[in-house]
Amino acid sequence: MPTSKSATLLITLALTLLSIEPALAQAPPSEANFGSPLDIPLFLTGNFAEIRNNHFHTGIDIKTEGVEGKNVLAAQDGYVSRIAVSAYGYGKALYITHPNGYTTVYAHLREFNFSIQNYTNNVLYDNKNCEMNIFPQAGILKVTKGEIIAESGNSGGSGGPHLHFEIRRTDNEHPVNPLKFGFDIKDDIKPTMYGLMVYAMDDTSHVNGTTQISYALGGTHGNYTLKPGNTLRAHGKIGLAIHTIDRLNGFQNKCGIYTISLQADGKLVYKLEMDELDFDVNRNMNSHVDYKLLKYGNKSYHKLFVEPNNRLPIYKTRVNEGVLYYNDTKVHPINITVSDTYGNSSEFNFEIKGDLEATSALPKKGALIYYNQPYTYTNDFCSVNIPAYVMYRNNYIEFNEAPCVNSKVLSKAIRIGDTDIPLQSNISIKFDTTGLKMTKEQYAQCYMGTINGNYINGFDAITKEGKFLVGKTRVYGTYALAYDNSEPEIRGINYQNGGNYYDGKTLKFILKDVQTGISTYNVYFNDKWTLAYYDAKYKVLNVKIDKQKLGAGQQNIKIEATNGVGTKNVYTTKINIL
Ligand SMILES: [Zn+2]
Repeated sequence: MPTSKSATLLITLALTLLSIEPALAQAPPSEANFGSPLDIPLFLTGNFAEIRNNHFHTGIDIKTEGVEGKNVLAAQDGYVSRIAVSAYGYGKALYITHPNGYTTVYAHLREFNFSIQNYTNNVLYDNKNCEMNIFPQAGILKVTKGEIIAESGNSGGSGGPHLHFEIRRTDNEHPVNPLKFGFDIKDDIKPTMYGLMVYAMDDTSHVNGTTQISYALGGTHGNYTLKPGNTLRAHGKIGLAIHTIDRLNGFQNKCGIYTISLQADGKLVYKLEMDELDFDVNRNMNSHVDYKLLKYGNKSYHKLFVEPNNRLPIYKTRVNEGVLYYNDTKVHPINITVSDTYGNSSEFNFEIKGDLEATSALPKKGALIYYNQPYTYTNDFCSVNIPAYVMYRNNYIEFNEAPCVNSKVLSKAIRIGDTDIPLQSNISIKFDTTGLKMTKEQYAQCYMGTINGNYINGFDAITKEGKFLVGKTRVYGTYALAYDNSEPEIRGINYQNGGNYYDGKTLKFILKDVQTGISTYNVYFNDKWTLAYYDAKYKVLNVKIDKQKLGAGQQNIKIEATNGVGTKNVYTTKINIL
């Protein structure tokens, strides 16, 4: 009967969908069955959620014995779902999607295996673009567990040869903690705690009569205390931060911790767990840490309270957002426990004595700007727009004209806020060009410079809006309009003009622009676009001779590059391919 037939079909469809679903969901880490991404013993120089510049580290950094060219293996069956080639960040990277619901990422590679490299080169040649993200369809580049997919390297923003390995949930691309997946990595060392920071959280609160105080810790081997003679007395709203790191066996590197919990008066008020991160809010790390101590002291103080615009997914318990409150004269026990992914844990026990006396508010400088409301400041030469949700909490912000003497600076300079206050996203600065003395060329070569005294040491592009030039930045500081009238520098470094070279030789060229950086570059051999790899950290452009593509004989090489303001330079040379 037709009805039962269609019903059967529906059921079959439903069953098919059901049977697909478990494959799409993430297997628990213990069942994901990943193999090692390298065929050498695993020693880490960095772990998951370690504190880095403006982000938590989203993977693990595995040592490659100080050299490039180690075999990189697919951790599980799957297919290459993304190939990234960039002069920055992950450099050359592969993303492999697996049936167990995870995608693994292998970054800073030197070269992909033959078939992946071949596929990549064809796409790059088709697009005449040396830097791209390529998303191959599921059936195109299949891999099996343990297959060599690449050679390890040092490409992109890498500080030495290593493999950056990441595991992400395929459904939302959130990176998860690879150390939960049972790789052969040894850690029986307890986390170290170095210091405690105590903050008065509002105008009438205090700690030992002041707004902020820090203590170096006593004790060791997982049991920490305040040093003898150090006592804490507090009134009102109080926040704590703990300076802590972890070490793994076999290497002295400072790694990140896995959990931190805070108990006050015997009750759990705060707990964080580094299981999963989210790229959309990973910059919120700047709100989680004491940003000033990280930036100027390279110390990782984890705050044990959560600021209002901090949306990190790591906080599992947050009673009153971790903020403590004292308005009595009792003694209050505090316990801070830190653990690593392998279950090694350290404790810090101390006491805070309550105080009934409030302090009077100190005078503040600048405008109080609410984190959840936009704010605009305007003076005679610029206006500054701070959108809502750019800051993590309310802050007092000052705006001042800053003196700056530099022949390449075209406008007055504006100093905005305090560089110690982190920003999640851009503020914009709109410079009025009315009355500014600048030539047509200078106008065309204009950008927003970061001013440091009389020096320019940063570049942001500007957009033109009528008589205004608008720059955007994610960092409070001092800014002015500046111009770049120099062209990018291009010169050969490892070959002779007119020399003879074999297939496979990599020609190297310096490619740089001191003021505004390199924006675009193209290489041509006998007027044919040719693939190159730019290594931004070394400012070196690498061009590998591909005899199959270019043929033998004389090649006139032309390199074109533009800087951040679009000024172009062309460099020509020639070689013979043997
Ligand atoms: Zn890394």
